[in-house]
Amino acid sequence: MYDWIIVGAGMTGATAARALAEQGKQILVIEKRAQIGGNAYDCKDEAGVLVHRYGPHIFHTNDEEVWAFLSRFTTWRRYKHKVLADVDGEYMPVPFNLNSMVIAFGFRKAEQMRKLLVERYGEGNCVTILELRKSDDPLLCELAEFVYENIFKYYTVKQWGVTPEEIDPAVTARVPVRISKENGYFTDCYQGMPENGYTAMFQNMLDHPSITVRCETDAKDVLALADGKIAFEGKPFDGKVLYTGALDELFDGKYGRLPYRSLDFVFETLSKEYAQLCGTINYTVDKDYTRVTEFKHLTGQKCPVTTVMKEYSKPCGEGDIPYYPIANADSKELYAKYREEAGKYPALYLAGRLAEFRYYNMDAAAASALALCHKEK
Ligand SMILES: Cc1cc2nc3c(=O)[nH]c(=O)nc-3n(C[C@H](O)[C@H](O)[C@H](O)COP(=O)(O)OP(=O)(O)OC[C@H]3O[C@@H](n4cnc5c(N)ncnc54)[C@H](O)[C@@H]3O)c2cc1C
Repeated sequence: MYDWIIVGAGMTGATAARALAEQGKQILVIEKRAQIGGNAYDCKDEAGVLVHRYGPHIFHTNDEEVWAFLSRFTTWRRYKHKVLADVDGEYMPVPFNLNSMVIAFGFRKAEQMRKLLVERYGEGNCVTILELRKSDDPLLCELAEFVYENIFKYYTVKQWGVTPEEIDPAVTARVPVRISKENGYFTDCYQGMPENGYTAMFQNMLDHPSITVRCETDAKDVLALADGKIAFEGKPFDGKVLYTGALDELFDGKYGRLPYRSLDFVFETLSKEYAQLCGTINYTVDKDYTRVTEFKHLTGQKCPVTTVMKEYSKPCGEGDIPYYPIANADSKELYAKYREEAGKYPALYLAGRLAEFRYYNMDAAAASALALCHKEK
């Protein structure tokens, strides 16, 4: 009856479902949660404020195909995300830029730094703190040290649960300083928020006569994999399966669990119109949460109260939601074993941030799903 069973109704699964349905295929989407949208799911809280239950999601892309595809299912609110770092009560735009420099060092010193940066690296460009550290100019080294110590170090320690000594130098090397006054967090040419929310956009994507969606259905309960063959509800299934969940879960963690960081979200509704200056504030030198997001900045919703959300990062234990894959040599090797196992099933396809064990932004998730569907065509 179905040509494809798609496991997961997040960005990857929903994009693939729609694209395959438009190729004339019959699709069943199964989703273990009670709702569609994956981690981009949004809904109104008790106070009527539109919130993102699984962390703040801002859409941004340079991919024209993805933008055109999603724009069929939503109109967009023009929105450029802004992030401030709270450094001992002073708010500095991140990524660190010429405006941040004035706040951190005062106008005169910041102006000296700006001139040096423009001379050496060119106005409008980005320079990494690694490059600045290598410079022979003490002022530029001071700038690099400031950004490392006050913007990057403690935030990374909280986010990844590492000590400062364990911070990967390759990651530190990429921390940018912008030689411009651009305060927007992203620089992609298309940026925005679905005007009626992500869930509405996903509903429109899945609203097609050839797509059936079953929520509260765990693949583990309806699919069985054995000897290279797949069964659905106890009967051999001769269609294809696109799996977008965690790969170790599909094989009962038989080689061990893939490591992830998880998050706790603490929501609070406040009796005021706005609580903070912009969408997200990163706490980079103190507090045990990493950042606070105020959704009304993102969504543009007008109402007399507001909801903010604190994010606490933690290791992903049994029962926690896996959010960020921890990529290192061991985890890559472990993932390769599961991938090999999956390779024994010719009808099994893997896509998305969980199944591929890599961090994807939403646009990359949609792009990889569209690429898979083009190949199928
Ligand atoms: C805190 C946070 C903030 C983010 N912010 C942004 C942002 O601002 N912009 C951006 O572009 N990206 C952002 N991302 C990334 C974004 O969440 C991902 O790109 C996107 O979720 C990928 O979609 P997906 O479908 O691959 O995975 P998911 O959204 O995780 O969807 C997978 C779905 O599969 C379901 N599933 C899993 N296993 C099973 C099973 N066994 N049976 C049935 N269903 C199953 C899950 O319940 C889930 O609904 C953020 C991620 C996090 C963690």
